[in-house]
Amino acid sequence: MKIYAYEVREDERRAFARIGAELGAELVLDTAVPTLENAESVRGCEGVTMLGQGKISRELLEKYRELGICCISTRTIGYNHIDIAAAKELGIQVCNSNYAPNGVADFTVMMILMCLRNYKQAMWRGYVNDFSLGGLEGREMRSLTIGVMGTGRIGLQVLKNLQGFGCRLLAYDVYQNEATARVAQYVSLDEFYRECDIISLHMPLLPSTKHIINAESIAKMKDGVILVNCARGELMDSEALVEGIESMKIGALGMDTLEGEEGIIHCDRRTDIIANRNWFYLHQFRNVIMTQHMAFYTEEAVESMVRCGVEGILQMAESGDCPTMLTR
Ligand code: NAD
Repeated sequence: MKIYAYEVREDERRAFARIGAELGAELVLDTAVPTLENAESVRGCEGVTMLGQGKISRELLEKYRELGICCISTRTIGYNHIDIAAAKELGIQVCNSNYAPNGVADFTVMMILMCLRNYKQAMWRGYVNDFSLGGLEGREMRSLTIGVMGTGRIGLQVLKNLQGFGCRLLAYDVYQNEATARVAQYVSLDEFYRECDIISLHMPLLPSTKHIINAESIAKMKDGVILVNCARGELMDSEALVEGIESMKIGALGMDTLEGEEGIIHCDRRTDIIANRNWFYLHQFRNVIMTQHMAFYTEEAVESMVRCGVEGILQMAESGDCPTMLTR
């Protein structure tokens, strides 16, 4: 079976070569982001795999269908870039990827600690031989309440990671699970906002979660709250974040993802003019830590993403199903 792979990064090539040979798939590797303009490239293939920078719209899916594509896989966990309903209607099978939650969960704990201990400011000072302490006083985890919003695979692992720090752990989810209830206390959303010193987001981007962190929800939080987002940028309204930081209602922000990151993250844009005012305005604050959507980025996860990307397409084409299928 011939599969067209978009958005292939250098570090994925070895895994693609090895896994393609092992599973007997013919692979065409391309660094481009999938668009309507480059859709013709997939002619002759039956499957397409991509990462999350493109917009896999109904129009693009119709074009793929016309070109003979029957299966699509995204080598990411998040799949909000694909119009799943349109794919279903068009009879295109879609799956996402799967990898252990530990990489993102480890990174989240690092973000929490960096925010809590003013590490961005300390690091900046070090670059100019300023070794003063003023303004760098932090707090200890054991005296804080930390809340995880979205207690799926990653949220639960974050809570497990945090257990050793001796903090009070709260949880909020629209669907509660037993494993989380064993390590944290589920509370109502209002209580969650009211009680947490630190809030970490781990829900998917859905119409119901878009801008769930907005001016109204921030107003319900503690003064000086620390917000960490290693999930999806659009969970937070960036205008409200700017206001929250300016008014010092928000004590620190740790963000691995930010609204409007497409076309910016994972690219070298040093010589370009980048139009994302909120991103760059937030970026300059001493208490805002931003990373380039890299929480997932471990050797183990890359291997698993490529494997799911190729294997998922082969399985769906052969049996009409795979463990991570989204179009059942
Ligand atoms: P998951 O599906 O296992 O868990 C998501 C949880 O969110 C579920 O328990 C669900 O019930 C809950 N949820 C849904 N709507 C909610 C709401 N309104 N309020 C509270 N909870 C709600 O997903 P996961 O594997 O834990 O991943 C979570 C998200 O992390 C992904 O959707 C993805 O967007 C993001 N992610 C980011 C990176 C990164 O590199 N930064 C990597 C992987 C995943």
